[in-house]
Amino acid sequence: MVESPSSAAPSSLKPSRQFQSRARLVVIGGGISGTSAAWTAAREAVKQELDVETLLLEKETVLGGKASAIREDGWLFETGPLGYLDNEPIVDELVRGVGLEEERVPASDASSHRFVFLDGRLKEVASHPVRFLASGLLSPRALLRAACEPFVRTKRDGLDESVWDFAARRLGRDVADRLIHPMVLGIFAGDAKRLSLPSAFPIMAELERDHGSLIRAQLARSRARRRGTLPPRRSSLFSFRDGLETLPRRLSERGSFETRTACVVLTVTRREEGFLVVLEGGASIPADSVIVASEGFSAASLLADAAPDVSQALAEISYPPVYVIALGYGAEAKRSIPRGFGALIPRGAGFRSLGVTWDGHLFPGHNAEDGLLVRVLLGGTFDPEIAKLDENAAAAIAEGEMQRLFALSVAPRFLRARLWRQAIPQYELGHGARVQLVDEALARTPGLFLAGNALHGTAFGKAAARGVACGERAIVWLAGRAPKK
Ligand SMILES: Cc1cc2nc3c(=O)[nH]c(=O)nc-3n(C[C@H](O)[C@H](O)[C@H](O)COP(=O)(O)OP(=O)(O)OC[C@H]3O[C@@H](n4cnc5c(N)ncnc54)[C@H](O)[C@@H]3O)c2cc1C
Repeated sequence: MVESPSSAAPSSLKPSRQFQSRARLVVIGGGISGTSAAWTAAREAVKQELDVETLLLEKETVLGGKASAIREDGWLFETGPLGYLDNEPIVDELVRGVGLEEERVPASDASSHRFVFLDGRLKEVASHPVRFLASGLLSPRALLRAACEPFVRTKRDGLDESVWDFAARRLGRDVADRLIHPMVLGIFAGDAKRLSLPSAFPIMAELERDHGSLIRAQLARSRARRRGTLPPRRSSLFSFRDGLETLPRRLSERGSFETRTACVVLTVTRREEGFLVVLEGGASIPADSVIVASEGFSAASLLADAAPDVSQALAEISYPPVYVIALGYGAEAKRSIPRGFGALIPRGAGFRSLGVTWDGHLFPGHNAEDGLLVRVLLGGTFDPEIAKLDENAAAAIAEGEMQRLFALSVAPRFLRARLWRQAIPQYELGHGARVQLVDEALARTPGLFLAGNALHGTAFGKAAARGVACGERAIVWLAGRAPKK
């Protein structure tokens, strides 16, 4: 199937553009998005009895992309995503489709306790309104301002707005500074003043548009849930017994497609019909359809020839670096570190950490016996210099800051660091226009699809959903062209 640069393609491997022989779909990138795309496409092809060969190419030696865990001495260190929210039903379908229900692990009830470091100490962000009012997170004046939210005029100018501006406009500057800014740092490692509200938090924009107020929207939705006209809210965190990478790997094991790891794609070029996927080393693979499921910056470089407009738009998306450091403590740390999800740390609080997740509280299976695993995140938009540190230096910062935060007198038994040089795509102001531009450009390039998390949601579940959608679309596109089996 692979054409060597110097030799003509053997007859059985002739480009499949004639569509008299098998059609070929190539998926580039073996993270959750690419594996979901390949799995879905292969399953749809079988269902529709289409003669389509699906091939997944991944440059690393293992699948999973950002979903990647290190297991050592009984600890399970998730170096990327910690879990996924069940608000994307498509992930459940994938889980069922590959028989992983038994290995799925819900986060413990510790996940409902979230903290923020404010005024020199950790404070719990209570979800119950009465406890929230009493928590001291906001001054009485700030609470009064937030309570005026239902009377704030709805924004209808259609212009983009930053997350910070949205929060300040609707709930007041104190909420924007003390709660929203650190939250955006914790989720996106990004700047609330630069990220686009409709792109980063589309649900918030919808609530304002449909109800004119976030508070009114919450009340209306609670009523609808009680009446049963709206399904119960789903926002529980899940992982798998052996970590999140279990899902992409199982999709590859169970899917009717071929996976090649350690296979670096250099570029995708267009041919008279279809595409040529050029690999490192000079070999190339003819394809009738291509799904690019690599990171935005990688897709930008791959598509410079086949879709220059898409390439240019993707190249503009920034991906700041993030260091993830795991610290495994002995049982004594459980006395100092409260049970919960973790803590956000605002800028200016005297720490370099963006936040801490208490993985061992959420997923006790991540702990070695009697231990407690926590992870510290460093870097992001405000601290790109972090990428210059080696792992020991980054780990030393994390260890020192954990000691200060929790007055810990013990050193961790386990200490590991992982640097993602280009970690999370930033949906900055203008992102919506970029998405539209890319969609229009892709419509002019039939057979080419863009999965991944660069455009339509940065979370694991969103990347999976985008992969599934692209897998389905690729088969719809191939259906009129590929021969029946
Ligand atoms: C530190 C961190 C923490 C996160 N925490 C969470 C969390 O708790 N919950 C959550 O929902 N989300 C979280 N996310 C986001 C989540 O990890 C991503 O949305 C998701 O994993 C993206 O999957 P993907 O398949 O789109 O991309 P990736 O996982 O990035 O996969 C892309 C793949 O493409 C491959 N590739 C790239 N270029 C080429 C090439 N030229 N040839 C062949 N292959 C190539 C790469 O090697 C990689 O395997 C986190 C992300 C990071 C970085």
